[in-house]
Amino acid sequence: MSTVQAQPEVAITATELLIDNRWVPSETGETFATVNPSTGEEICRVAAADAADVDKAVRAARKAFETGPWSKMNASERGRLLYRLADLIERNAEELARLEALDNGKPVAVAKRVDVAKSVACYRYFAGWTDKIQGKTIPIDGRYFCYTRHEPVGVVGQIIPWNYPMLMQAWKLAPALATGNTVVLKPAEETPLSALRIGGLILEAGFPEGVVNILPGLGSTAGAAIAHHMDIDKVAFTGSTETGRLILEAAAKSNLKRVTLELGGKSPNIIFADTDLDEAVEGAHIGIFANQGQVCCAGSRVFVEDSIYDRFLEKSVARAQARVLGDPFDPKTDQGPQVNQAQFDKVLGYIESGKAEGAHLACGGERFGNRGYFIQPTVFAGVDDKMKIAREEIFGPVMSVMRFGDVGEAIERANDTVYGLSAGVWTRDIRKATAVANGIRAGTVWVNCYNVLDTRAPFGGFKHSGIGRELGEYGLQQYSEVKTVIVGL
Ligand code: ADP
Repeated sequence: MSTVQAQPEVAITATELLIDNRWVPSETGETFATVNPSTGEEICRVAAADAADVDKAVRAARKAFETGPWSKMNASERGRLLYRLADLIERNAEELARLEALDNGKPVAVAKRVDVAKSVACYRYFAGWTDKIQGKTIPIDGRYFCYTRHEPVGVVGQIIPWNYPMLMQAWKLAPALATGNTVVLKPAEETPLSALRIGGLILEAGFPEGVVNILPGLGSTAGAAIAHHMDIDKVAFTGSTETGRLILEAAAKSNLKRVTLELGGKSPNIIFADTDLDEAVEGAHIGIFANQGQVCCAGSRVFVEDSIYDRFLEKSVARAQARVLGDPFDPKTDQGPQVNQAQFDKVLGYIESGKAEGAHLACGGERFGNRGYFIQPTVFAGVDDKMKIAREEIFGPVMSVMRFGDVGEAIERANDTVYGLSAGVWTRDIRKATAVANGIRAGTVWVNCYNVLDTRAPFGGFKHSGIGRELGEYGLQQYSEVKTVIVGL
């Protein structure tokens, strides 16, 4: 293990709430600690928003939406602001990647290549949409002129998770702003720092007052206040299925706000014998171990065709053992720590349950090092579909490998889950590939690739994995209301 730097060089410039373009402490004066997961030590304290702060932010967002300069701005000018924000993020890529590595634990190099680069791409893609959001003219019966307008939903609450803090902020803010909404966004309490730094860049880009409000705080207080608020028109949430249910319930009990949810997964990755074995081993490896396994679409159930099972397992174990764990600030590091003590304990608990239920621990299974929340890349073989590790989302570096016989069996077992976020299939046979792509009940199916996410392609879940889609044109639609106008002639 490379030595973890005690105090990596990253400037922390924002730790307060951003409301109405001003940095302010919370009304209660409360703060919470954000922790470096590589060491377990506190990085700094951050203002903790609560209901009163959410109220204040919603009032600012409402005013900006109804009467502020934002409400009168040309669509093309909204696009220019988003382009400017993308440029500023790109210009500050190194600093933002380091901040993400410090607060989340992901390797700096990955943060730069994935989180920062994809955030920039996301803002630019939606910037291009601002002046291309248009309705239709509809030839209804009678002497009327009928047309539709795609109007912003209004004040949008956005609650995001800690696994891709900056990127999830981009997925949320970019389409909401492109369509003309105003936003109250709550980053996860584990990782508030990059969201706040982007808040600084939003000010620098010149967004008018009240358009973007950023409120770090706890889920049970600030998050719940957003979900229950009577003057928030929509909530967009990414996180656990459990919390997603609470948000939907809150929306139903308050003002029937629109809700989009991107939730958990237990995605199958199906490897047929005719595939290029090395490519599939690598695809399955990245499919589960990327981002310390903290990925909602992680390919955590790897189904391998009988005749190549032993060879696949041997190669996958060797690949997992070659993964370099250590300091996220070391360029050689592939895998950093889990995000916090709770996640670390949860993942190790699942590993224990796998052992107890009789799965074969092929490699890993232990803490790595003696400081921070590092867990060895873990591979379980001989996993039964009924085991907890095959059914529940672990959200950590734990691969379960199962054996299957034919296409029909693979599809049936892959679908035997409450989740439906994504799936992978590896084969040279186009008929098998399309049978799986059509047969799997999931929002995304990757054929001979995995974890390919692009700002232009929709992403979201079937079943308990969510409601609605993010990204692409489909994602944009979730941020507007359709208004029908009928003019008597
Ligand atoms: P995890 O358990 O992995 O932290 P969560 O779904 O609890 O996942 O967290 C995702 C986001 O949801 C975070 O920003 C968190 O603060 C927020 N959150 C947690 N509980 C609630 C809640 N009851 N209402 C609204 N937001 C919440």
